[in-house]
Amino acid sequence: MRPTGPLHLGHLVGALKNWVDLQERYDCFFMVADWHALMSEYERPAEIREYSRQMVRDWIAAGVDPKRSVIFRQSDVSEHLELYMVLSILAPLGWVERVPTYKEQLREVKGRDLATYGFLGYPVLQAADILLYKANAVPVGEDQIPHLELTREIVRRFKFLYSSDIFPEPKPLLTQEARLLGVDGRKMSKSYDNFIALSEEPDQIRKKGQKMFTDPQRIKMTDPGHPETCNVCHYWEVFVPEQAPKVWEECRASKRGCTQNKQELSEHLIRLTQRFRTQREKVPDDEVERVLAEGAQKARQVAQKTMREVRQAVGLG
Ligand code: AMP
Repeated sequence: MRPTGPLHLGHLVGALKNWVDLQERYDCFFMVADWHALMSEYERPAEIREYSRQMVRDWIAAGVDPKRSVIFRQSDVSEHLELYMVLSILAPLGWVERVPTYKEQLREVKGRDLATYGFLGYPVLQAADILLYKANAVPVGEDQIPHLELTREIVRRFKFLYSSDIFPEPKPLLTQEARLLGVDGRKMSKSYDNFIALSEEPDQIRKKGQKMFTDPQRIKMTDPGHPETCNVCHYWEVFVPEQAPKVWEECRASKRGCTQNKQELSEHLIRLTQRFRTQREKVPDDEVERVLAEGAQKARQVAQKTMREVRQAVGLG
């Protein structure tokens, strides 16, 4: 995850919940992608360090367990850049240019100049992040599928060029809630300013809740609602599943207006974020630094071993 801002509800349901479950079945590596953050924030990098710390605190609060999983910061393990260099050399320009998120971000992200040499290499660095640990599987949202496909293509090309089998082809572990929409109906994202942060104050949640898009076909309260096309109703399913059937039924039967629906949902979201905040306050300040230092050590061990094999394969050193 990139430390470019506070974590939001999309991160909680789209990534963190899944991560916590995966710890039961896999040896997991969770990375603070601060090099990736720098690619978009290079003009104002001052906050990356602080966001990194806050993010790890949020992970621990959500249940990511540093005793079971390796939690580390990308820039603490310089092998990421070494492997990135090797992969950049062999990744054809056409492959990188056709990654759909590249053009989308250039178009959609405002206030940042992403037309840089480095930003084009974003998914190649991601491939290095994955392959350095010989990951068999990567938990991703659907938007990341093309990046994982590029990683798989790079693995095949590496194998073809150097007759080397050191990298497995990683498969995606798709998250159930892979695309939570924000208050404006686009994917919830730090870049679009349409998010509800996990650290959001109650009044802000109420304000943002009121702004949410509902069923466009429902003009008056007496019109029957279509909960399946309403983002607010979808939030009920995701965040308050036990009450969602009743809410959906009332919406269809015009017994529940959109304003009431948003107000009640906001109160649920406030309770959820407050529970989260209580957990977060239990994580002591120095814990994050300790976790990152230990994580870097464990990650480095694996990364160095892989890089020895890579250098051997490509004929360096
Ligand atoms: P990012 O903030 O773009 O670095 O995303 C970090 C992780 O959170 C990735 O696995 C994303 O797929 C996931 N994620 C981010 N935003 C959302 C969202 N709106 N819905 C679901 N998952 C998300």
